[in-house]
Amino acid sequence: MLKDSFGRTIDYVRLSVTDQCDLRCSYCLPKGFKDFQEPEHWLNFDELERVIRVFGELGTRRIRLTGGEPLVRKNLPQLAERLIKLPGIEDLSLSTNATRLDKLAPALHKAGISRINASLDTLNAERYKSITGGKLDKTLRGLLAAKEAGFHPIKINMVVMKDVNDDEVEDMVEFCIEHDFTLRFIETMPMGNTGRDASHQYVPLDEIRQRLAQRYALIDSVMAGGGPARYVKIAGTDLRIGFITPLSQHFCETCNRVRLSADGTLYTCLGQDNHYELAPLLRAGIGDDELKTHIIQAITEKPERHEFNDDPQKIVRFMSTTGG
Ligand code: SAM
Repeated sequence: MLKDSFGRTIDYVRLSVTDQCDLRCSYCLPKGFKDFQEPEHWLNFDELERVIRVFGELGTRRIRLTGGEPLVRKNLPQLAERLIKLPGIEDLSLSTNATRLDKLAPALHKAGISRINASLDTLNAERYKSITGGKLDKTLRGLLAAKEAGFHPIKINMVVMKDVNDDEVEDMVEFCIEHDFTLRFIETMPMGNTGRDASHQYVPLDEIRQRLAQRYALIDSVMAGGGPARYVKIAGTDLRIGFITPLSQHFCETCNRVRLSADGTLYTCLGQDNHYELAPLLRAGIGDDELKTHIIQAITEKPERHEFNDDPQKIVRFMSTTGG
């Protein structure tokens, strides 16, 4: 197993397959942003498969496909099929904005992806347009297509923003009860100038939890998935609600993951600059043992924690560059 120098087992890779996205969420990418990597800089499917095979040999058990928007990458189901067959890989999941799920959900499910996390910050079409630049009805169609295709659980990720969508928390709860989705609230992180510009919209999620507790009976709960969310269940329903609190209550001591960006850069912490460029090594023809040595070295240097509160200026890259 891969262990970092703080004794944490690293068995989870978030694999960004593209930095491109078809939305421009206000806290993530600037409006009109086009300065993405050229596709020739992305690791190709053979390179991705090789890196994940080697991670699997080093004890990685879970892979999440992410981006940018992973469904922008052509032939993603084919990549999924290849990754889920790799020895040691037990769980393949996907983070998506759902805009393309109406077409792709059945093929992704057939390819072996079992779980989906989908971003949805509002149920109001005008707000959706203003937050993301996209169309709400397309995203909702995508979510329903994912349900129809058999994905379970489907977790809705809502970044809660003061005076933007914080009045919709209860509506989102009812929506998720109705559709048998899981709901997770996320605190805005100061990643890139977009994330920092949104910091005045930051809402500590304890406020949301207290507000929900006035209306619903909340029972502490757990949910499989390997992530940092702390869950409650609403009594009398199947709904689980997760709170992801990187700022108000960080969870770095339980961090079990690293992120591989589309260009083959291994980021060992979302909130630090530490990175390790694997693409030049792969393209220089190194062998698997040497690749393992580099990965082990990168994990050894994994930082203890992010500094989103103490040093919010630190991370200049957008979330979509690292792979959310
Ligand atoms: N496109 C996919 C999606 O929508 O899930 C995957 C990538 S996206 C960058 C992953 C997650 O990061 C989304 O849930 C998004 O809301 C979240 N995110 C992006 N920037 C963020 C920020 N500054 N603070 C908190 N969450 C952020």
